[in-house]
Amino acid sequence: MEEIQKRDIRKLSLEELEEFFLSVGDKKFRAKQVYEWLWNKSLKNFDEMTNISLATREMLKKHFEINHILVDLMQHSQDGTIKNAVKLYDNKIVESVLIPTSKRITACVSSQVGCSLDCNFCATARLKRMRNLNPDEIYDQVVAIKDEAETYFQRPLTNIVFMGMGEPLLNYNNVLSAIEKITAPEGLGMAPRRITLSTVGIPKMIKKLADDEVRFNLAISLHSAINETRSRLMPINDSSPLEDLAEALKYWYQKTKRKVTYEYVIWEGINDDERHARALAKFCKIIPSKVNIIQYNPIDEGEFRQAKQEAVDLYVRILEQNGIVAKVRKSRGQDIDAACGQLANKNEVADLIQ
Ligand code: SAH
Repeated sequence: MEEIQKRDIRKLSLEELEEFFLSVGDKKFRAKQVYEWLWNKSLKNFDEMTNISLATREMLKKHFEINHILVDLMQHSQDGTIKNAVKLYDNKIVESVLIPTSKRITACVSSQVGCSLDCNFCATARLKRMRNLNPDEIYDQVVAIKDEAETYFQRPLTNIVFMGMGEPLLNYNNVLSAIEKITAPEGLGMAPRRITLSTVGIPKMIKKLADDEVRFNLAISLHSAINETRSRLMPINDSSPLEDLAEALKYWYQKTKRKVTYEYVIWEGINDDERHARALAKFCKIIPSKVNIIQYNPIDEGEFRQAKQEAVDLYVRILEQNGIVAKVRKSRGQDIDAACGQLANKNEVADLIQ
């Protein structure tokens, strides 16, 4: 018999799976049963689909395969944070992080292998972008962390942030498709308001999010509200300066009525003065917003150093005077290189040079 070129079944939408079942003379509802096994139950082989007949399972095996990720290495931080090195079907590695707090368990997931943006302070930027993750590869990172939350903390996963490796808005369709499955009842049934997508701020794509009426939260990695400084930190600012970002954010707010969060690191000698703090306060008034001041996680011996506490206090005071909510975020998982901007497959690199 002729070998059928097997397709990855999780590349099919529910509708496409329904068409497939009809095309082989089976019932349409079979698609939903299989789809739930694949997504809600995250099964990795057809034999465990107990409500599907043996003959149908054999037929599926002839046509399809189920690609899945493998948690290759799990590291536990002293503060409870867990970092997963996740092996993809083509042996490429991405990292994802479980961050526990007293109220929440958050999954921080990657959207690309490496990253094409050259933010000077980020370890992921040192890896060149290799490829986009597929929706199932993003979804599976969430499932792995959900299982770890239950195993190690006996608590459910409560939040998801797209703050791992890669720029989610440069993998737009796959990220949105993953979120659709994470929020779908046949998937994980999580509320969109528990999901935050973090971006360097690509104006065209922010407008697209608004047009697509997404219901998850948007966070922008701002780091400076002065073009000159921001361009020095994030080269993307040369092609998409703050004026364009501001215009896209206004469009976002007009369409979605949702406030944004600005992520902001304060570095010594770079943006730790009053002029930068006041510029941020002004930028924050463009649309309703809040600020997360993130601690800098050193990635090498380079030029960047976390600002002094006085500078952080100055920012908080100026933002508060302007009626803007600012939270100072403690860094998590630094001892295992799991904190913001530290994801760089260090262990893989170490393996390669050994
Ligand atoms: N590409 C997306 C998501 C990945 S980074 C984005 O840029 O938003 C997640 C957050 O960590 C971003 O706000 C990023 O600017 C920040 N970050 C990167 N490197 C960091 C570092 N070394 N220390 C602290 N935060 C860092």
